[in-house]
Amino acid sequence: MASNCYILWDDEFQRCLIIDPASEKSSQQISFIRENNLIPDYILLTHEHTDHTWGVNSLLKAYPDIKVVCHKIAKDNMNVESMAYFRFYYDNPIYSYKVEKFDIVIEEDDYELDWNDNTIRFIYVPGHSMGSECILVNGWLFTGDTILQAKPYINRRNGSKIEFKESLKKVFELFDGEQMIFPGHGNQFKLKEYNVPYGILDKENI
Ligand SMILES: [Zn+2]
Repeated sequence: MASNCYILWDDEFQRCLIIDPASEKSSQQISFIRENNLIPDYILLTHEHTDHTWGVNSLLKAYPDIKVVCHKIAKDNMNVESMAYFRFYYDNPIYSYKVEKFDIVIEEDDYELDWNDNTIRFIYVPGHSMGSECILVNGWLFTGDTILQAKPYINRRNGSKIEFKESLKKVFELFDGEQMIFPGHGNQFKLKEYNVPYGILDKENI
């Protein structure tokens, strides 16, 4: 999948987090984890679309103790083909994909998870999909498909432009222009470099 998967690790404890694994076999991720002697603790999912989740089951097979974390609506939508877009990416009617387990299902708009000496913060940002989260780890913001350099994709049936606008406002209230953004597709950038869509915010305010 042409999406970004991030592996974050802690040098001291040699433990790691995986954000949005989306390659069916997760071979690159598993080799990286092995080569660096890491122990994966969590898979964090920014949202329900298959191009961000397709690698979860292969990682679980290799590391059954990994805990999978996402928003409740993302979890629910992953079981609905038209919401997860699996067919869109994999056009084989006899094959389907469902994430095998979920360990932490977030229902709050703001949720914190302690991991080693870090606090991981989940900020609920519905819009691109109704199960979208921005995930803050160690000062880096992982935005999935909510904040991308490309024009946002919002399907009227599965997402909401109105909620998207509110979610973007929330991100701009919480973070300043220097905030580093690690998107679900494309390169990292600073929030002030974001080409704010739909005239949602006045760039002067950033
Ligand atoms: Zn998406």
